[in-house]
Amino acid sequence: MQFVARWISAAIIGGLAVFSFTVMKADAFQIDRVNGDDRYETAVEISQKGWSNGSDVVVLTRGDEFPDALAGSPLAHAKDAPLLLTEKDHLTAITKKEINRLNPSSIFILGGPGAVSSKIEKTLKNTFSAEITRIAGNNRYQTAAKVAAQLPGNDRAFVVNGSRFPDAMAAAPYAARHGHPILLTKSSYIPQSTQEALRGKKQTTIVGGDGVVSQSVENDLPNPERISGNTRYKTSAQAVLHLRMGRPDNAYVVTGNKFADGIAGSVLAAKYNDPILLVEENYVPNAIKIAVHKRGLEKFTVFGGYNAVDQYVDTELSLPIQLLLVNKARGIPASYKDDHLVKPNVRFPSNSDLPKHYMSSIAAGHLENMFDDAWAAGKELYAVSGYRSYERQKEIHERITRNHGSEYADRVSAEPGHSEHQTGLAMDVSSPAVGYQLVESFANTVEGRWLEQHASDYGFIIRYPDGRERDTGYTYEPWHLRYVGKSIARYMDRTNKILEDYLR
Ligand SMILES: [Zn+2]
Repeated sequence: MQFVARWISAAIIGGLAVFSFTVMKADAFQIDRVNGDDRYETAVEISQKGWSNGSDVVVLTRGDEFPDALAGSPLAHAKDAPLLLTEKDHLTAITKKEINRLNPSSIFILGGPGAVSSKIEKTLKNTFSAEITRIAGNNRYQTAAKVAAQLPGNDRAFVVNGSRFPDAMAAAPYAARHGHPILLTKSSYIPQSTQEALRGKKQTTIVGGDGVVSQSVENDLPNPERISGNTRYKTSAQAVLHLRMGRPDNAYVVTGNKFADGIAGSVLAAKYNDPILLVEENYVPNAIKIAVHKRGLEKFTVFGGYNAVDQYVDTELSLPIQLLLVNKARGIPASYKDDHLVKPNVRFPSNSDLPKHYMSSIAAGHLENMFDDAWAAGKELYAVSGYRSYERQKEIHERITRNHGSEYADRVSAEPGHSEHQTGLAMDVSSPAVGYQLVESFANTVEGRWLEQHASDYGFIIRYPDGRERDTGYTYEPWHLRYVGKSIARYMDRTNKILEDYLR
């Protein structure tokens, strides 16, 4: 892969200052936005992007609540229609204008008169020469079942909790693209209308954990599989990894905290055969960053303006995986393991082949170069501990807690799911002068001093420096090296910065 230098600005926490630094990222990286002032305008912009020459069908639903829209993406996709939003009591002006531009012969309203008023229906009838069809049940479960009845139909259905839009959003592009209905369930039982809609289905895909779609519901579903994580972002990441969409590079990005942009956007995603990634309003959760890395996604379209998804999200999407921020606040999924762990050809205190002797292939070659040069300069550097699994980190943290109490344990070791060692990008190093121990006095050895001077030339930082315990959450660790890439490491070294100075 070809890499080029690229200037990226990264905002400091609290917006105190904006820094620029060089980041190495595949030159294919692209980002753009579908950017409306509010949800109605964003839906219109999405419609204009996907249906620039008009559309024979339009799907309309209310923009301030999600229940009726949850199941709407597969219907809109099946009709090759954009999904537009309206206020509940009158047809939003910008939406009306867009329907006029699209010039449909058919308009589907999702939801009853309580969701999209009869007055709106009348306005549509009086304004457009289109056939109006209202799809509505007495509740969201019935509406979803009625939407399913409108689909061409096949033997698979998606099942999500009817109170949780993020799970529906994660499933929507794939379900819509493949003509599978999205049916809604209660967490503890399957409502009657959903049971009826499931008749004849041979396979079901649950999106969401067993807290939102219980094991007993799963037991009642035909041939179920489950896509889930313990947060909406982890669920979204699992959906991206397991529900493979067609285009290899592209993805859409939307806030996981508001439904409107994502529901409208999921229809565009289905049209172009791309996944949707859920992000926080002001940063990209690590589970999503990892999914982006694993899928090699490079081209992003963010739904929503900067008030919905902060510009910092654009920056974070552009950062390579070696800038993953892992600390007490930002964890990584327990299941995460770098796909290319390798054993660097460096010296270890023991000759046995241990998991901790491995690290990410992204960093291993740089570690080898650093060790070669250190030894050539007469420094006896040894690698002690690199990759750790979640389970291993759990053992370590529990052992220290048992022996020294939890306050001490938290200052010197990470909780499982929050250790940089789980990324494979960190290596603890030592030397014979301190008996290969990981101790603060390593800083005063010739090896420790050499590292302080030269680590950044190989792309490594001393992650937990002296005097920054308050910011990193950890005591000084002169032995803990973290790979971030040369340009960043040198820049951070020159300016005495830590990762938390750049990344949220
Ligand atoms: Zn370490």
